[in-house]
Parts: sequence; structure tokens; C-alpha cells
Amino acid sequence: MQSLSDLRSFLDTPRKIVLFGHRNPDGDAIGSTLGLKRYLTPLGHEVKIIVPSELPSFLNFLDGVEDVMVFDTDAEECKTSMTAADLFILMDFNSLERIDKAGEFVATLPDTPRVLIDHHLEPEENIAQVIVSEPSASSTCELVYTTIKTMGDADKVTPHIAEPLMVGILTDTGGFSYATNAQLFRVVGELFEVGVDNEKLQTAIFNSMTEKQLRILGHCLANRMEIIPEHNAGLITLTKRDYEQFDIRRGDTEGIVNYLLRIQGVDLAAFITEQPNITKLSLRSRGDISVQKMAAEYFKGGGHKNASGGYSHSGLRSTVSRFREALEAGIPVG
Ligand code: 5GP
Ligand code: MN
Repeated sequence: MQSLSDLRSFLDTPRKIVLFGHRNPDGDAIGSTLGLKRYLTPLGHEVKIIVPSELPSFLNFLDGVEDVMVFDTDAEECKTSMTAADLFILMDFNSLERIDKAGEFVATLPDTPRVLIDHHLEPEENIAQVIVSEPSASSTCELVYTTIKTMGDADKVTPHIAEPLMVGILTDTGGFSYATNAQLFRVVGELFEVGVDNEKLQTAIFNSMTEKQLRILGHCLANRMEIIPEHNAGLITLTKRDYEQFDIRRGDTEGIVNYLLRIQGVDLAAFITEQPNITKLSLRSRGDISVQKMAAEYFKGGGHKNASGGYSHSGLRSTVSRFREALEAGIPVG
């Protein structure tokens, strides 16, 4: 398999297909895999979705999320599905490391053909035989739509498929505030023609915090935020103790990093958290500042120019020092 037309012919026969989304799956990882599953299933394929870790609860309104398999909690079942699969489609990530142990298991099945659909910078070499990698795209969901269209199946896109695709577009663009371009709005126009309940989705995505999440946000802004005016930067840090005290779970801190960019003069934002075994960073920036470069050079990570992440094996304090060092070294542009 070398091209999308090979993929299209491959799909003429009913197949067992596993779709993968990245660790800490977000709206785009779940929206893109669910959207593609809803396209493939009526064509006669048996489709499973595997992600390494738990889904955030705001996505529970999408039907079918309960069938998403989580490698952390169901490793054996995931391995059985992966072993039986005829095809792997890797979605919304660019290196196997991003799917943790599932990625290690993928590597033990080299004969299963792999397709990548993704919009992150610098995909890992040899990650797949067919690669749809468009860093200029808003989201993987946008690429799922254009890929279906390229394969000649635009007429098979139903409102049921359009809905999860719009979810990823809305979450990855912050409700059309960044990562937008004319092509995206053309795709969105077509999805609206298919049928999308935009108001329902906006509410489900942006106005559906729990009381606890809003209080965690309040704590971050009131007590854990620091501004570094000389570098036009800001950071928020959370300790293990904060996690215990506020009973913070995966997904509860989603989007907090973006609040720093609401401050006039802050162009680079970091959210640094103490996790059980690592210190995790979320980085955001405005304009030409490339947090992708910072994440790759200092924190074993990557992502997009204006939204990246990474991690460190040293503690919170020394990771914060490293972040300051990175700022001192000069703000990366790109
Ligand atoms: P977030 O800060 O929301 O976790 O992630 C922002 C972006 O950076 C996402 O596109 C995500 O895929 C990427 N990213 C986050 N953490 C990592 C990481 O540890 N390694 C790499 N390569 N990318 C990451
Ligand atoms: Mn994405």
C-alpha cells in the first residue's frame, strides 16, 4: 500500500481496522477516529478505536465513545484486536511514542499496513506506508473530511459523521480563534451543508465545565500563575499536592494554559504539572514564536508551532528552571 488510491482499493474488501488516537486524547483525537469509524463501518468494515489513556468526560455526549478501547485499562483486549487487524490508521499524532505501550505493540506487528492522518509537524520517518500529513490543516478532523473526499466519497458524509469531525475542528481551533485558514472554512461550509448543529456543539464543548474544573481554574489563576514580563511569558504550575487537594483528574486542566495568552503582552505560555512519574509541559504561543522548537529542544516533545507539549524526568522546580533557561536562550521563532 503506497497511496490513497491503494487504500481505496484495499477498502473494497471488508477489513478489520484499528484506528489509534494519542495519549490524553482530545476532541480532535476522538472526533477524527470516531468520524472515520462512522464512515468505514457502513462500508462493511469492522472498526475499533484504541487510545492509550482515558477520555475527557466532556466528550461523553458523542455516542460511541463508550466503545473506545483504552490500552491502559484493557491491554489484553487491545492486543487481541491489534493482532487480528488488517490495517492500522494512526490519527492525530506523528510518532509511535505518542501512543505509549500501544505503539510498542504496533512495532511488533510490522506486516500490518499503516496509514497516518495527522497535522503535527515533522512526522516520524517510516511511521506509515501512506502518509496524509498536513501541518497547515487546523485539525486531523479537517483532514479526515478531505481524505474521504479525495477517495471520492464526499457523498457518503452524513450528519452523524460530520458531528465528531466538527468537534475536533472546534476544539483544535479554540472555536475558530487560531489555526484557521480559507480551506478550513470551505470544509466547515461543506460540513454545515451536510448538517451540523453548531450551537449544540459549542455548548457541549465550551460551556460544559464542572464546578470542580472551574474552581481548579480559579486556583491556577489566583495562586499558581507567574508572569515573566522581561520575556513576555507566563506560567502556571501544579504540584502533586494540588492534584490531591483538588482531586484533579485527567482532562480537568484542559485549556488552562490558554488563559495566560489572554494577558496583554504575554506571547508565550507554559503550564507545567507534576505527574506521578514525569513533569509534563503544555506550551502555547502567539504569532511567529515557535513553542514546537522549544518543546523539541528542551522537553523531548513537539506538536505545532503555537501549541506543543513535552515532558521531563526531573522534578517540577528544575523543569521550571529549564523553562526559564529556554527563555533566557532566546525566544525561538519559526
Ligand atoms: P497539549 O499541551 O494540549 O497536551 O498538547 C499540545 C500539542 O502538543 C498537541 O498537538 C500534542 O499532540 C503535542 N504534544 C503534547 N505533549 C507532547 C509530547 O510529550 N510529545 C510530543 N511530541 N508532542 C506533544
Ligand atoms: Mn489535533
